[in-house]
Amino acid sequence: MEELNYKEKNVWEVYSEKEIEEISKDYIPFMSRVKTEREFVREAEKILKENGFSNIDAEGVQSDKLYRKFKEKSIIIFLKGKKGIEEGFNLVTAHLDSPRIDLKQKPLYEDGKLAFFETHYYGGIKKYQWVTIPLVLRGVIVKGDGTVVEVDTEKDNYFFSIPDLLPHLGRKQMEKKAKEAVTGENLNLLVGSKPLKDEKEEKIKKNILNVLKELYGIEEEDFISSELSLVPAGEAREVGFDKSFILSYGHDDRICSYTALRAILDIEKPERWAVVYLVDKEEIGSEGNTSAQSMFFEETLLKFVKDYASLLSIYLKSSVLSADVSVAFDPNYKEVFEPKNTPYINQGLVVTKFTGSGGKYHSNDATAEYVGKVRNLFNKEKVVWQTGELGKVDEGGGGTVALYFARKGMDVIDCGPAVLSMHAPFEVASKGDLYASFHGYKVFLEKF
Ligand code: MN
Ligand code: MN
Repeated sequence: MEELNYKEKNVWEVYSEKEIEEISKDYIPFMSRVKTEREFVREAEKILKENGFSNIDAEGVQSDKLYRKFKEKSIIIFLKGKKGIEEGFNLVTAHLDSPRIDLKQKPLYEDGKLAFFETHYYGGIKKYQWVTIPLVLRGVIVKGDGTVVEVDTEKDNYFFSIPDLLPHLGRKQMEKKAKEAVTGENLNLLVGSKPLKDEKEEKIKKNILNVLKELYGIEEEDFISSELSLVPAGEAREVGFDKSFILSYGHDDRICSYTALRAILDIEKPERWAVVYLVDKEEIGSEGNTSAQSMFFEETLLKFVKDYASLLSIYLKSSVLSADVSVAFDPNYKEVFEPKNTPYINQGLVVTKFTGSGGKYHSNDATAEYVGKVRNLFNKEKVVWQTGELGKVDEGGGGTVALYFARKGMDVIDCGPAVLSMHAPFEVASKGDLYASFHGYKVFLEKF
């Protein structure tokens, strides 16, 4: 009898342990090091240069391997194809920012004989997950004279934490809704308690200002022109007795950014132009000049295309994978999933026809024809993939950058690995799904 049933595959039954382990051995230390979009761009530029890529903005550059970065927060990478750009290009786009806790511009204050930093969280977090854990500060401070100070307190061995109420006095707190138990204004970072000798007022705050002066050469006003983010301290690590998982901050969406970068480095000469575009600000709605909606994309492409009208025609022939993580079925919370159409861990890249929420609202809904082409390529190249949507129909939902590229006329589909604990300080991904992402992005860039 002919087999008519559709069956998903398991990454561990298709790929070799060797190829899976090879990529995760590189990914784990990368994720321990790289915790912000700026750090990713810096690291990516280094890797690109080592692999023979040149910066478009450098003078007299003639190369098939090019990249361009914008404001140290987004980066676009080109590998010219056998065909000209007039034939359209294959783009994998992912985002570099992850949910975190940013500092306010006037952060430092003293209260109750303690010094704190005020914060404003970035992206969709469950606030209660971010208290009591070790945190580090990363980012930049621009001083009055314009010099930029790089901050990575993890490197310098400074750690912080946001205190929470003890259970003994938490009776009323525990009766609140989870989203109100810890509020945005409760997320104050403990930064010190030693008084500065011979001072009468704000002795603890003044002492912290002295420490900051010594460490970074800054004064209080310099915080106004700073971008400082609190991210979880500590390393990414293997998880499970079978070591099949990776626990890390920021899989969303650096697992896709990383595998897209690795994929373009692994290609010699693609059929069409291969483009990888890694953007910022997805977690706060893709607004801002380093986001997927920025005209930086057009401005860069116009370096290869004679005019805007021609670029618009090229868009109509171009194909995009919106590389972002999806949710993996969690049997502890069965009630929010529709088990037949949810992605599962270890079933490879999740090809998601549409995202959005409640009636496909605010969604890119890829055409059946485009889904068919992507599916056929993945099957032909033996990429492990599955399909799935994020949760039950009326349960919630989420968006990606897909719609911002779709509105230019390009074919776009969401395509990324499924993770557990998305947006938590530490998220869980499968090593095999990491490999499947690399594999899928590579064949798409090379052969689509
Ligand atoms: Mn994402
Ligand atoms: Mn996200």
